Amino acid sequence: MRRSVFRTSAALLMAATLVGCGSSTTTPTTTVQETTKAAAETTAAAEASGAGVSGEFEGTGKGFEGDVTVKITVKDGVLESATIVGDKETPNVGGNAIEKMMSEMNEHHTVNIDSVSGATYTSSGVQEAIAAALAAAGMTNKDFPEIEKAAAQTIEKETSLLILGGGGAGLTCGNSALDSGLKDVTILEKMSYTGGATSNAGGIDAGLSKLQEEVGLTGDSAQLIHDDIMASGENHNEDLVWIMANNQGKTLDWLKETENVPFNDRYASDFPEHTVQRFFVCDGGMSNAMEILTNNFTSKGGNLELETKAEEFITDDEGRVVGVVATDADGNTIKYKADAVVVATGGYGANAEMISEKKGDLQYAVFYGVKSSMGDGQKMGEAVGAKMLNMGYAKMYPNGISKGEDTIDGYATPMPTLTTVNTTGAFFVNKDSKRFVNETLAFADIKNATTKQPDEIMYIVMDQTGYDTWSEMVSTNTSAVGNISMEQQEEFFNSDSDHPTFARGTLKEAAEKAGLDPEALSAELKKWNETVESGTDSEFGRTALTKFDEDSTVYIIEQRLRFATTLGGYDVTANFEAQKEDGTVIPGLYAIGEVTAGCNGTEAIPGSMAAWAVTSGYICGQQLAESLSK
Ligand SMILES: Cc1cc2nc3c(=O)[nH]c(=O)nc-3n(C[C@H](O)[C@H](O)[C@H](O)COP(=O)(O)OP(=O)(O)OC[C@H]3O[C@@H](n4cnc5c(N)ncnc54)[C@H](O)[C@@H]3O)c2cc1C
Repeated sequence: MRRSVFRTSAALLMAATLVGCGSSTTTPTTTVQETTKAAAETTAAAEASGAGVSGEFEGTGKGFEGDVTVKITVKDGVLESATIVGDKETPNVGGNAIEKMMSEMNEHHTVNIDSVSGATYTSSGVQEAIAAALAAAGMTNKDFPEIEKAAAQTIEKETSLLILGGGGAGLTCGNSALDSGLKDVTILEKMSYTGGATSNAGGIDAGLSKLQEEVGLTGDSAQLIHDDIMASGENHNEDLVWIMANNQGKTLDWLKETENVPFNDRYASDFPEHTVQRFFVCDGGMSNAMEILTNNFTSKGGNLELETKAEEFITDDEGRVVGVVATDADGNTIKYKADAVVVATGGYGANAEMISEKKGDLQYAVFYGVKSSMGDGQKMGEAVGAKMLNMGYAKMYPNGISKGEDTIDGYATPMPTLTTVNTTGAFFVNKDSKRFVNETLAFADIKNATTKQPDEIMYIVMDQTGYDTWSEMVSTNTSAVGNISMEQQEEFFNSDSDHPTFARGTLKEAAEKAGLDPEALSAELKKWNETVESGTDSEFGRTALTKFDEDSTVYIIEQRLRFATTLGGYDVTANFEAQKEDGTVIPGLYAIGEVTAGCNGTEAIPGSMAAWAVTSGYICGQQLAESLSK
């Protein structure tokens, strides 16, 4: 949108001089025709070059969470300032990227700035908004200078404790080490923001915390926490399970009382995996917790290096890890020497190559976690002989939908799906067009049943009422991973691609597009309606029985298992030391959080993954502060 324009271009001055026959300071007398001609010349001059353009111009682009509007103020063709008008981006991700891009524009008086790593959508939204503002000004990128970059260098740095990754594990480790008296702590974070996957978590387990007692949840014990974790999945490292059981409550107390992270008295009340309920949430969500821990870390004197990616370990002749080679956003190579290196780089779900190497459930499932989960830490560890455990396992849920050609990016639609099967005649079928489960069961049961189906794929089959229910809930979902707008749904229905499969039409049309046998599906639909009429689902025991409208348009949407968290990584000791295959430790190398395996086995219980990140970070920070201070 164009606000106000003051042009003082040479063309306008010349027009004024010619028409008024006076000096350029005299107010010219002009006819309408002449003014139009002068303005046309001015516009042409401005299109050819932005020299002389003055004014404020706004443009809008599409960011991650909504529109991003950039206002540029130009004086005589020079960028005076750039500001964001009412952005809606998340403070920790898009917000930081916006701040960085605006400050580069203001510092260098140019619109020619780079995108910010890890904030692709926000960056392209800002670039789109800049382009629109330039169009409103009649200018192009060529009217502004390029930023000259210094030649990349190799820089050497030293620190006592070097932490790789500024997510929940890394930030708690850094703060805990500083609180315990260690002076020289550095966190390297490859993104332009901290928080990692932890910013997306709903909450954490905190059994035996003061908060658990305050809200009247009594009867918990370290033994129960241990038993609950051990009851889920296999291949646990029991030493780590005990660390978790004995310390998750203390960790929450420390986060709340020392770090001022506002965990509150709201808690999840119905996790069947928890013998005593112990899942707590934080005001402003875990992204707020991460922001507070980031600010605490830097204000205590911790050194946080953003957009700095750890690439490989530096080892000495005895195989001790003595540092890390990293690269920064300007292409510099930085060699950090450190007394101890802690890997806290999170999972690997966003790494298509690593996922495709794995067999089992991962190859079929949709990843809906964060882009930073690339398995960097696992790969660096393998390069120095660190043993990895439980690779190929992830915390799986049902009702995932892939966004595009591959399954590395997806949506999570559990609640809309559950509500739809509970309140309408919708049902699930497998690739053979057969129902296979009571659709209204708990997510874990749906997941387990889906795992046994061909290619671990299922389809939700809906009539008009079913689809109206599902699509309304999905399109109004406020979570970025759960929201599929109506426009996007239309696009999927109209696309020929089978990723994701959104099919509608007559039963035959919809079945054919979804790759199902129309006759088999028609038979299954009839069988479902007979089941409803009989009042008993003798095959699967579903009690929410509603007829499917056979005259309706049929909607079929493919659903896969989904995961945001991988469970495979470093096989560490009870002191978080990385081990080799032969059980010996790699001196100087430690790992915490999702990059480690074993605490949560092959199947984590709710709240236990983020809890492991912060608990392992808290304890490891204390231990290393003590040993490194000696
Ligand atoms: C959508 C979603 C919802 C979830 N909900 C829950 C929940 O409700 N409860 C629960 O318990 N768990 C939940 N989880 C899982 C949980 O959040 C994670 O397992 C846990 O928080 C991981 O913490 P972390 O610090 O180990 O890793 P992360 O938080 O992912 O942090 C790793 C950090 O390392 C950085 N990094 C990676 N590679 C490098 C490198 N080479 N150099 C420098 N930095 C690097 C990353 O950018 C990132 O900032 C959820 C996860 C997601 C994605």
